[in-house]
Amino acid sequence: MTQQITRSGLDEAVKRSPNKWVYLFSEGNANMRDLLGGKGAGVAEMTNAGLPVPPGFTITTQACNAYYDSGKQFPQGMWEQVLEGVKIIEQQTGKGFGNQENPLLVSVRSGAKFSMPGMMDTVLNLGINDETVKGLVKLTGDERFAYDAYRRFIQMFSKIVLDTDPRDFEHVLDTYKERAGVASDAEIPADALKKLVVEFKQIAERQSGEPFPTDVYTQLHKAIEAVFASWNNKRAIDYRNFNKIPHNLGTAVNVQSMVFGNMGNDSGTGVAFTRNPSTGEEQLYGEYLLNAQGEDVVAGIRTPSKIARLQQDLPHVYEQFKEIARRLEQHYHDVQDLEFTVENGRLYMLQTRSGKRTAQAAVKIAVDMVREGLISEQEAVKRVEPIQVYQLLLPRFDESEKEKAEEEGRLLARGLNASPGAATGKAIFDADRAELLGKSGTPVILVRPETSPDDVHGMLVAKGILTQHGGATSHAAVVARGLGLPCVAGSEDIRVHEEERLFRVVGSDTVIHEGDDISIDGATGQVFAGIIKTVDADFEKEADLKKLLGWADSIRKLGVWANADYPRDAKRAVMFGAEGIGLCRTEHMFMEQERLPIVQEMILAETKEERQAALDQLLPFQRSDFKGIFEAMVNPKTGEGYPVVIRLIDPPLHEFLPSYEELLVDVTRLETNGQNPQELKEKRKMLEAVGVMREMNPMLGLRGCRLGLLYPEINIMQTRAILEAALELAREGKKLHPKIMIPLVGHVNELKEVRRELEAVAKEITAEAGTSVEYKFGTMIELPRAALTAGQIAAVAEFFSFGTNDLTQTTFGISRDDAEGKFLLKYVDGLEEPGTTERVKILPVNPFQTLDREGVGQLVRMAVENGRKANPDLEVGICGEHGGDPDSIEFCNEVGLDYVSCSPFRVPVARLAAAQAALVGGEKDK
Ligand code: PEP
Ligand code: MG
Repeated sequence: MTQQITRSGLDEAVKRSPNKWVYLFSEGNANMRDLLGGKGAGVAEMTNAGLPVPPGFTITTQACNAYYDSGKQFPQGMWEQVLEGVKIIEQQTGKGFGNQENPLLVSVRSGAKFSMPGMMDTVLNLGINDETVKGLVKLTGDERFAYDAYRRFIQMFSKIVLDTDPRDFEHVLDTYKERAGVASDAEIPADALKKLVVEFKQIAERQSGEPFPTDVYTQLHKAIEAVFASWNNKRAIDYRNFNKIPHNLGTAVNVQSMVFGNMGNDSGTGVAFTRNPSTGEEQLYGEYLLNAQGEDVVAGIRTPSKIARLQQDLPHVYEQFKEIARRLEQHYHDVQDLEFTVENGRLYMLQTRSGKRTAQAAVKIAVDMVREGLISEQEAVKRVEPIQVYQLLLPRFDESEKEKAEEEGRLLARGLNASPGAATGKAIFDADRAELLGKSGTPVILVRPETSPDDVHGMLVAKGILTQHGGATSHAAVVARGLGLPCVAGSEDIRVHEEERLFRVVGSDTVIHEGDDISIDGATGQVFAGIIKTVDADFEKEADLKKLLGWADSIRKLGVWANADYPRDAKRAVMFGAEGIGLCRTEHMFMEQERLPIVQEMILAETKEERQAALDQLLPFQRSDFKGIFEAMVNPKTGEGYPVVIRLIDPPLHEFLPSYEELLVDVTRLETNGQNPQELKEKRKMLEAVGVMREMNPMLGLRGCRLGLLYPEINIMQTRAILEAALELAREGKKLHPKIMIPLVGHVNELKEVRRELEAVAKEITAEAGTSVEYKFGTMIELPRAALTAGQIAAVAEFFSFGTNDLTQTTFGISRDDAEGKFLLKYVDGLEEPGTTERVKILPVNPFQTLDREGVGQLVRMAVENGRKANPDLEVGICGEHGGDPDSIEFCNEVGLDYVSCSPFRVPVARLAAAQAALVGGEKDK
């Protein structure tokens, strides 16, 4: 009854406001993540499911956005609604906020739509002051507990809200411990804590320049503001940039009645996953600390116990928790990451959210859940990030090299296998330096006593993370798993001395200094001195992954082909599931040692005859190259071959010759010393030839089909090699489908002429052979003019392949070689705004990695439409690097390409991404 009256108080306050800014937990649900954030939606759902959740309310993300829009003012009516919300918590708990007899304490926690672990702020134990602390003593009969809660509150509030230096507090705390002759915070006696509280308030006042707020509503007001503000702190912005989370979502704020895990040994706090987030195994996985508050677990200061031990410590709590975990997983059909607190033997749930997991776990959990009937195959396909598939296939340490390292005594330490993968790099002991070195390309392993959100910028660029403290749910472990970085956490075998920039290995004289190479194995938790060689993962043994990709294959509409220049690449591509070769760059074969001199002879030939003689020598090489690739693409049982697209020579010829500048230096040197007249003569000749071929803009110069028009003999040799190889195999009963691709066409006449010449040669060759082979001629669309006139070009082409590398260069007018790693990086990272810490982003992403839908994409869309109109049988694919990028694959699916072609290692990624694109496309069509 009373609750009803107070509810209407909130309803009345909402009526007077322009918006509903505050939702009681009982008013929300799991579908309201946009408005209530992940945490708010999770506690709402748990509340409504009847689980034990301390009462509270959520201030919406809209309120946060309105706060920023109005120049950091609470939106109209919000505070009034907050006050009504507090009244309701008071009624539900029977306690009073600021009440001296029976005080209500609350937590004020951030909670955005997407989980950003540890990036934003939280204040616990709010509502405590010199008066209410006495009530707390009376209520609990535990003076030590009450003053410990008070000192924790001052410490946290000062750091988060008053922005004071936390080290001053820690320093004083250490002095108190020393004085009391105790090792842990939990042992400081009540009397000392009382004095500590006084001293803490003085520090806060000194540092912030104002008295520490005693009014509980002022405390609440300031804490809510601080949580709003933490949405835009540096580490939160860095994290969102890295994870591509939009900056305009805002954070919700959850105000919740406190429950205390530090009320003795029948109290505690912990975090647990419903399945192992590292391996995916079906077992409760997590840890807890008896007699502790939440931040003690996450900060990794005390080493927690494994969750299974709770069965002995508090058996009925363990059983209840296990049952709740099972129910929540069944309810959400996904692995949950749970936070709980036990207060005097009573279990409370504080959070449930979908658990972050490693690539290996993601795949195993998705496949297991289909087996268990929890999710459909389609859902399983949606559950795994394509990039995780890539991580799964990342190199691991070569086992024999690792054994050798062990034999050599280089195994330094073991820790927790917190996030899998192998990493080698220089040990670096602070995040700033790690960031600096990592960004300049030096492989770095960040080594810390434990990590905190302040280390994230260093973690983002590190190859791996090693910590001395902390468990499987410590900050280091959670963030590393999210980033797909190898991590060894809580290694008790090392002592990190960050000021001296070194770590010592316990029980030995070994010291690793900053800059020394170390290797960590996140799958086993081992730490080695020196470098260990890595090897590729064994795809054939990844049974779950293969099953998942099999489901993806039955969903996707796009074909997945691979770019491969050598038979070994083609074999690997087939193993990964490629259904064709979408690009074979033939010039790579020209670069090989034994061939390059012949290629140079051909280029430098003064007569047609000389050139032909060189080409005649190249022909058998090319024929055997193509035969090798074709063979790799033939099904040995049926003799049927996958399609293979072979591109005729593309790069400017000078790329096969020595550099002009180097030659000039050599000639000058030989002229000066006069020692080797023969060499001088040869070098002069080469210099002259290279000089003639030099271009100001080779990317836009004599290359692609233009070369073939000027030197048709090269194209003819290549066409002959392709067809002769296919014919040889045809005689063995193998059916090949070579597709001859003419690059860099800008005008239809270029294609017409090259095709006319080559078609005549092809006819001649097949006639001579007396056997037939099915071949096609097509072109790349990699210049804007080709895209704009695709209708004309399609009339002369049997297939198109979008060369989006060149198409992006030429559409933007940005030379990739000159821009990437230089100004393009700044465009994407943001240009510094003088006098501020703001950065102005020119481009959202690197357009050479993710297809620019607005510009380049328009050309692609138009070319597909006009090309198919002119030639309904036209086959259309993509072979630029975008063919392996999930976002670009979604676009390719949308515009109706027939296939994407990418590097062999990306093939599994593309299979999954193509299936997800089909599912998204299907949903959009509904
Ligand atoms: C392209 O331009 O997209 C392409 C595949 O060709 P290359 O990268 O060899 O220029
Ligand atoms: Mg190209």
